[in-house]
Amino acid sequence: MGDEFKREIIKSLTLQKEIFGDELFIPKTKRKTSIVKEPSLLYEEPELFPEKKEGLSADKAGWEKAASLVELEKLISNCTKCRLHQNRNKFVFGSGNPNAGVLVIGEGPGAEEDKQGLPFVGRAGKLLTDMLKAIKFEREEVYIGNVVKCRPPENRTPLPDEMDTCMSYLKKQCELIKPKLILCLGLTAAKGLLKKKESLGELRKNIFEYEGAKVIVTYHPAALLRNPNWKKDCWEDLKKFRKLYDNP
Ligand code: URA
Repeated sequence: MGDEFKREIIKSLTLQKEIFGDELFIPKTKRKTSIVKEPSLLYEEPELFPEKKEGLSADKAGWEKAASLVELEKLISNCTKCRLHQNRNKFVFGSGNPNAGVLVIGEGPGAEEDKQGLPFVGRAGKLLTDMLKAIKFEREEVYIGNVVKCRPPENRTPLPDEMDTCMSYLKKQCELIKPKLILCLGLTAAKGLLKKKESLGELRKNIFEYEGAKVIVTYHPAALLRNPNWKKDCWEDLKKFRKLYDNP
């Protein structure tokens, strides 16, 4: 690729970012999925996904009335509300203490999670366990979930409509668990949960609220594995999180 062409692309993306923020909007007539490396950045137009309309459908009343996590899992684990169900091996409901004071929220299952049906069991999961330990939480004492419960193909970032659909389940889990504090891992989880458009850097500076719980946003452990330089800042977030837990 020539330098001038590269410069043109950078200019156009910078301009687009200034207008639309971090989301990349490609008008229907010009969509070329082959050039979109990050599907998460693509807001598809709703008519492309007729299943989305059918999605929020008949069984809603049933699962919404679930009185426990076990009951909820039984009612939703065959979910077909979004396209992610098509490739899943296992539905990753979440795991941990049903009465946890802390809810940890990631993005979505990866290959290992999809195989085992449990959240954060791969390499990022091992780091998450260590992160929790560093602030004196055992993994078993917290509850761990994700904004989407089925593995996105090729581990791509979940699309906004997939997150919106699945978030109703996480909201219900949150109602049942009633955590004091939520630790949100990474920008995608923060966007799904808080519906914010700011950068991770901005979100890390604040304390938010979700369903009566205070929320702190930090780096996703997978991002820390890729870029260990961020561990220092993450450690500051984790200390802030522990302090808030001890002195609400
Ligand atoms: N990454 C996530 O966000 N969630 C998992 O469950 C595993 C890896």
